[in-house]
Amino acid sequence: MELQNESLSLQILKSAHDMIKITLPDNSVKEFAEPVDGLEIARSLSNRLAKEVLSVSVDGEVWDLTREITSDSEIKLHTWEDPEGRKAFWHSSAHLMAEAIECFYPGTKFGIGPAIEQGFYYDIDLPDGQQLTEKDLPKLENKMLELARQKNNIVRKEISKKDALELFSQKDDELKLELIGELEDGTISLYEQGNFIDLCRGPHLPNTGYIKAIKLTSLAGAYWRGNENNKMLTRVYGITFPKKKMLDEYLIMLEEAKKRDHRKIGKEMELFTFSEAVGQGLPLWLPKGARLRKQLEDFLTKVQEKYGYEQVITPHIGDVRLYKTSGHYEKYGKDSFRTITTPEEGEEYMLKPMNCPHHCEIYMSKPHSYKDLPVRMAEFGTVYRYEQSGELHGLTRARGFTQDDAHIFCRPDQLKDEFKKVIDIIFIIFKALDFNDYVTQISLRNPDDPDKYIGKVENWDKSEKAIIEACEEKGLKTITQRGEAAFYGPKLDFMIKDALGRSWQLGTIQVDYNLPERFNLEYTGADDNKHRPVMIHRAPFGSMERFVAVLIEHTAGKFPLWLAPEQVVVLPISEKYNEYAEKVSKVLNNSDIRTVVDDRNEKIGRKIRDNELNRIPYMLIVGEKEVANETVSVRPQGGGDKEVMKISSFAELLSNEIKDHLSFV
Ligand SMILES: [Zn+2]
Ligand SMILES: [Zn+2]
Repeated sequence: MELQNESLSLQILKSAHDMIKITLPDNSVKEFAEPVDGLEIARSLSNRLAKEVLSVSVDGEVWDLTREITSDSEIKLHTWEDPEGRKAFWHSSAHLMAEAIECFYPGTKFGIGPAIEQGFYYDIDLPDGQQLTEKDLPKLENKMLELARQKNNIVRKEISKKDALELFSQKDDELKLELIGELEDGTISLYEQGNFIDLCRGPHLPNTGYIKAIKLTSLAGAYWRGNENNKMLTRVYGITFPKKKMLDEYLIMLEEAKKRDHRKIGKEMELFTFSEAVGQGLPLWLPKGARLRKQLEDFLTKVQEKYGYEQVITPHIGDVRLYKTSGHYEKYGKDSFRTITTPEEGEEYMLKPMNCPHHCEIYMSKPHSYKDLPVRMAEFGTVYRYEQSGELHGLTRARGFTQDDAHIFCRPDQLKDEFKKVIDIIFIIFKALDFNDYVTQISLRNPDDPDKYIGKVENWDKSEKAIIEACEEKGLKTITQRGEAAFYGPKLDFMIKDALGRSWQLGTIQVDYNLPERFNLEYTGADDNKHRPVMIHRAPFGSMERFVAVLIEHTAGKFPLWLAPEQVVVLPISEKYNEYAEKVSKVLNNSDIRTVVDDRNEKIGRKIRDNELNRIPYMLIVGEKEVANETVSVRPQGGGDKEVMKISSFAELLSNEIKDHLSFV
């Protein structure tokens, strides 16, 4: 009792003297008795926030909610809505899964278990050569739920390297021992929950009870540390949620996403393929895919012409020195494809990782006056960047891809207008492709860290103001992120939501003060002096490959009529009507409607089913009656009302539909 009183009075004494200032994201400051933690700060703000908060950033570092903050700090609380919140949630779930695995398989060795974009994984090695199978996953899920219900506290402990090595030697876990061996003494932390202890940097949830719904999704083989000379471990993937309903919704979305996978639909519709003989991550566009891509390119070219862009073409390789000047060698030289050398002259070339240096050289090919600016240079430029084979994913992550690239060289006073014009172009694209749900993010510099950025402060002030005003004047809803700008300039990003509610980053508009400096770009001003132009990089689609992938998954392959590689298929009821079908096709093709005939000797029902997989917007069925009346029976994609029309009326209908949809171009 005595002792307790003493410690209580000590605490009062302490709190009277040691108050710490906590600065919140809105710059308001709250004082707390030291020590305080994230959870307590959340509680002081609202009960609801205290329930929803998952982790806390303390001076830019993400911490556990229960870790003591002992000095004045800037903090930000993270909920499920923030990646930092989900990361703590999913990483804690990886520990929970490991705990469940250890219950069934004592002596399991654990590699790494990070949170990923959607969920988490853990690389494990079961004892005595045992292997997990899909059948084991439900029992692990149940065990995890049981452990979660115990609401075991997840406790952080900092220990010395010596103690860490001893602990994991006892566990005979050579994987962790290898990891600890590479850590510096004084930086090692452990996390413990229930009977499970793991080497970990954190951060974690306060306890396992936050985790309410669990799905272990798949198993895969993974070499320890990604090196094929090492042991093959088992990678167990999973995802968890704070509510059961969220898991149900996620599973439905996953089913739908599988059906819409662009790799599956791309195969069914014969849009693109890959060949091991050609090489990994190098897409081959099949005739229909090439036609689709050409439609997109022609469309964008037409829009860009209206906005004063000029098309240029540059080679797929460039002298290494060019990329040393641009700085791209530093980024891509070592960590990408190796250089190519010539046999006689010993010249060194690189596969082009970026189009910008080439465009700078075009800019420099003649002198410029302030009156010529802006110069807007566009190119569907193919670039090559190395991606690890495990990271490749259909068209969304490839090693060769074509950017719908353009560079605008302008005067500082033209920045705002140029931004507004690029925003217009992006709007036109979104409208033509029915992307209605998107957010825009403005990335600005961190004013507290001025040395990080290249270019004059007054230029930064001007360009940030130009972006903000351009967005306002265009009525864009924006999120502003301070400190997210690249070192060479602020930017604006467009993120679209697809039909399944997934976010994709598409167009970027990036201001650049760096390349004009590195290439010594100039124009002659009205004052007859030399000035530096500002450069804007912009790619509304991003890359043709990735954009087509997003479009396939968004539309499930049912492209808008104007874009469909084949717009109409004519299906003769029997061979007798093949000739008439050809005639119909000819009339439509002459009106620029992309039409094919399915003259296979198959029953009409079969033909309809097969062509449904091709997702052609219209099927025309022709038989005896149609031949007699010079008509077609129209069957729109996905069924709907059949209508009998004169060939010419149908051609007119489609031409008008296409024209209307693109009327704003
Ligand atoms: Zn951990
Ligand atoms: Zn560029």
